[in-house]
Amino acid sequence: MPIDLSTPGVPVSFEVYPPRSDAGFAALHETIRHLAAVDPRFISVTYGAGGSTGGRSLELLIHILRETHVQPLAHLTCVGNSYAGATSLIREFLDAGITSFLALRGDPPAGSSEGDAFLGDLESAAQLVQLIDCVQAARAPYTEAPVPGVPGAVRVAERPQVDIAVAAFPNGHPRARHAASDIDALLAKQAAGATLAITQLFFHAADYLGFVQRARRAGVTIPILPGIMPITSPARLRRVLELTGEQLPAELAVALEVEPTAEGQRAVGVAHAAQLVRDVVDGGAPGVHLYAFNSHDTVLDVLTRAGLLDPVPRMSRPVH
Ligand code: FAD
Repeated sequence: MPIDLSTPGVPVSFEVYPPRSDAGFAALHETIRHLAAVDPRFISVTYGAGGSTGGRSLELLIHILRETHVQPLAHLTCVGNSYAGATSLIREFLDAGITSFLALRGDPPAGSSEGDAFLGDLESAAQLVQLIDCVQAARAPYTEAPVPGVPGAVRVAERPQVDIAVAAFPNGHPRARHAASDIDALLAKQAAGATLAITQLFFHAADYLGFVQRARRAGVTIPILPGIMPITSPARLRRVLELTGEQLPAELAVALEVEPTAEGQRAVGVAHAAQLVRDVVDGGAPGVHLYAFNSHDTVLDVLTRAGLLDPVPRMSRPVH
């Protein structure tokens, strides 16, 4: 079933990552149960650089597929893959019943030298989008449908589509060569067949809303989902800035630093993210995608505070 962002209400979705241990898996299954109870449009599962978490990503995606009613969305990267390797990986995911993907270039593994040597045959996310589309097309059986009113006539039935999301960078990719290259990259990914974009985290609604406006002017027509990460401690803020190259959000940084307790810092992060959710939704965002950090409490508190979930005890809702 394709991802549908058009139904009533503000669509929400979440990102989780495959844990390293069995205990981590058990805890994450519980988190997924809580996340599924609020009817997200999808739950996405990250994919480690160089395929280091590939097997565990698929295991988690299959868990979401079998144990919840929520659509799992698989991140895949270009890193280190030959065409043949990437093709069989995509087939493995499709065979397992996964039909939604986030096609990514991927980052160089830590410690690798500059340049594109870490990539394999695929050099950009746009090429991966095309490959996913081709593998799906080659795999879908040829079927014919009768033409109504014309006895004996048939036409080729439409093949089932896969959803292919891609990344977008409201404040630019840290290694982008010039300011326009991120919109150019998004246009290329759309031309290759992407059906949805999900953004890197950002700290001000204007960053996202301005980016969407520029993208639309340049011809991007696919929905652009804002990616929002609740920042619940100064340590998390430092780590996130290191990983994404985003500019320090001064007000949030100060508010977190002056809070003496972990609980107080969490409240600051929840309030900030909830305001961001409200502002992007008021500005026309087609939904919100929350980076859950494998825990449900914080992201569900953000959505409740933003007015997107009612404060009824969440697990009293049916999961299936
Ligand atoms: P592309 O679309 O191919 O490139 C986009 C733009 O990035 C280009 O225009 C260019 O400006 C710039 N760029 C990227 N790399 C370079 C480079 N080496 N030199 C010069 N310019 C460059 N990574 C993972 O490994 N696993 C994940 O699960 C994962 N999930 C993500 C989810 C989201 C929502 C986002 C936003 C990112 C995620 N990433 C993940 C990180 C992503 O792989 C990196 O940001 C990567 O560098 C760019 O990927 P892309 O698909 O946007 O690349």
